[in-house]
Amino acid sequence: PVITRFAPSPTGFLHIGGARTALFNWLFARANGGKFLLRIEDTDKARSTPEATEAIFEGMRWLGLDWDGEAVSQASRAERHAEVANEMLAKGAAYKCFSTQDEIAAFREAAKAEGRSTVFQSPWRDAEPSTHPDAPFVIRVKAPRDGETRVADAVQGDVSWKNETLDDLIILRSDGSPTYMLAVVVDDHDMGVTHVIRGDDHLTNAARQVLIFDAMGWERPTFAHIPLIHGPDGAKFSKRHGAPGVESYRDMGYPAAAMRNYLARLSWSHGDEEFFTTEQAIEWFSLDAISKGAARFDFKKLDNLSGQHIRATDDAALTQAMLEFMALQHNSVPDTHRHEKITQAMSALKDRAKTYADLVDMSYYLRAERPLEIEEKAAKQLDDVSRGMLEKLTERLRNANWSLNDLEAEIKAFAGEEDLKLGKVMQPMRSALTGRATSPSVFDVLVQLGRDESLARIEDQLA
Ligand code: GLU
Repeated sequence: PVITRFAPSPTGFLHIGGARTALFNWLFARANGGKFLLRIEDTDKARSTPEATEAIFEGMRWLGLDWDGEAVSQASRAERHAEVANEMLAKGAAYKCFSTQDEIAAFREAAKAEGRSTVFQSPWRDAEPSTHPDAPFVIRVKAPRDGETRVADAVQGDVSWKNETLDDLIILRSDGSPTYMLAVVVDDHDMGVTHVIRGDDHLTNAARQVLIFDAMGWERPTFAHIPLIHGPDGAKFSKRHGAPGVESYRDMGYPAAAMRNYLARLSWSHGDEEFFTTEQAIEWFSLDAISKGAARFDFKKLDNLSGQHIRATDDAALTQAMLEFMALQHNSVPDTHRHEKITQAMSALKDRAKTYADLVDMSYYLRAERPLEIEEKAAKQLDDVSRGMLEKLTERLRNANWSLNDLEAEIKAFAGEEDLKLGKVMQPMRSALTGRATSPSVFDVLVQLGRDESLARIEDQLA
């Protein structure tokens, strides 16, 4: 069975790159009926606060990346890591190294001066235990000196390192604490991880980690090192390109499904498909369709996909999602007051929306209580001349038949009589009725609001 894992180090939020790594692991597990595990690599005590860990949980929950079982805390497993280091020692696959920092520095300096490799060669590697001093030591892996270390990577292909370039890595520090390399391998083994899918900044670590797997006689997992995400300018994605944490995208109103769709397309593809559901992604996902090239984060494409997901959502569900988004933004319970009205208007509203935030803005007129707050751009349409025009028009509409066709005929006739372009009538009406410079068609708005509310809103602007 396939077992994948996502192993973030808590930093205070779930990074876009981490979210994509988590998504790939999740998709691969779900595609293969396997398990997706979560391990918090919380060995850096200063950064690993409960809040930082909670931020990762929250980001994953928002993205709908449910993990199997309890999240594992790496720090809580330190004893087990040390146990494995000692096992390696007992097997002769690792050794105690008593070299001090000064001795190591001196070794390197001398090697440099003599033009030899500066990869540290510990004099303790083959020392008899009887010669061991009573002094602090680290435990190092007895790595092969000759030949190559090979990793068959599902994305990068066969990668190899000359062993002479790799030192005998430390697995246990002199204070008895495990190093990161050891912790990752022991955890991956104990968790039964079959596929390690992670950023390609960890590729070199794989060379070190396989030595530990091999030394313990443990089966290596399949590695898949995926290219990092870059900004539009080709540099590694960072704050300067846009928000680096996924929660910012939630707060900007992108639907989680759209975010999953967008992130899935970063270095992975299925033919020419751009827009797809999560179910389709699960059906299609495979490691061999991951490309080696770095993906560029494209905000326009995200907007575009997001708009498509919004339009693909049915009106009632979208209304619900928008109200929940509002509640989240304002930290309140969803205001279902105008629920039905918004649902009825939704098919018109969603046409131009890219995010839930757009829907909130565009549906303001349906939720607003009189008197409306008029946006600056809308207020410009309400000068003295327009107000005079609106006053005349309201007189006429008071007795009009309140249907789409009749209103349209009535208002067009009015514009003709007054010798005004239709826009000169509609824009001030839109401002008064919706408080915004853009909205669905004014005729639709009039019908949605009804006669009394429509006329009252226009009159509010005349006083
Ligand atoms: N904790 C590492 C990181 O956040 C990931 C380690 C791994 O996936 O093996 O970059």
